Amino acid sequence: LRMYQSKARMLGRLGNEAVGVDTLRLETELRGAAGRGELRVHYQPQFDLGTDRIVGVEALVRWAHPEIGMISPATFIPLAEESGLIREVGAFVLGEALRVGAGWHAVGFPIDVAVNVSVAQLSDPEFLPQLKGVLADSRFPAASLTIELTESQVVTDHTVIAGLLRELRGLGVAISIDDFGTGFSSLAQLQRMPVTEIKIDQAFTAELTSTSTSPFVSGIVGLGRGLALRVIAEGVETDEQLQALRRAGCDRAQGYLLGRPTDAATILHRLKESA
Ligand code: C2E
Ligand code: CA
Ligand code: CA
Ligand code: CA
Repeated sequence: LRMYQSKARMLGRLGNEAVGVDTLRLETELRGAAGRGELRVHYQPQFDLGTDRIVGVEALVRWAHPEIGMISPATFIPLAEESGLIREVGAFVLGEALRVGAGWHAVGFPIDVAVNVSVAQLSDPEFLPQLKGVLADSRFPAASLTIELTESQVVTDHTVIAGLLRELRGLGVAISIDDFGTGFSSLAQLQRMPVTEIKIDQAFTAELTSTSTSPFVSGIVGLGRGLALRVIAEGVETDEQLQALRRAGCDRAQGYLLGRPTDAATILHRLKESA
């Protein structure tokens, strides 16, 4: 397990260091990027493995920088968190995703929308009032919203976080533990968290082949079953991985094989196509 965990962390680090741009410059320019219309939200479809239908999307933010081009959230989200700009970026993503999601619901596709939220955002006293405001303005049903929190962050601040998550659950919002299997959470910690879904990290999905059923993946699915949680796998790139996840009894899946993150119009097109 240690090997997988260090591998997952390594992938994360490489993602952050891959861009050789001056971080100070980026931080300055990130201020107001939402206002200048430079932030985009892309949506990656999530499939139900029982029906093979799109039952949700994950909202993933991108920064269309006028000179540099597309900048990955792996690069600018950490900068946004350090500088406090995450409040502005997060408000934009939530507002945009719920507005777009409400549009899908209005035309007959009542799918779930998952939004990534970091602990820095969640512990901001303005977060909950902001979320309630966006839910009211967009008329997007709280029960169709999933908040994704990474496992490593949940573990670090678990006492503070548990209370905030309970408030979210009180609104009817679903809670997913992202990158599950990489954050060293204990079962005792997990039990105290009012979560509704666990998301198998892509490092585990990557290990699945047609010949081997990963004991980690079947273990996580079994844990989810036992705790009555939904289990979703991310990073599905091959048919072998998809079949292995089906065999393991995973509920949902997302990944390049099933659909890359794309704009809202393309998602609507796919929803109509499969209707
Ligand atoms: P994540 O939440 O673990 O998101 C999954 C990442 O894997 C996304 O990268 C996605 O595009 C990518 N991915 C999806 N399918 C596949 C696949 O089949 N294979 C591979 N190799 N990769 C796949 P992305 O969009 O660059 O996002 C990176 C991270 O940035 C996210 O990781 C998430 O932690 C963070 N992030 C994205 N949007 C937001 C946001 O609005 N707020 C916050 N706080 N964080 C965000
Ligand atoms: Ca996520
Ligand atoms: Ca993830
Ligand atoms: Ca990840």
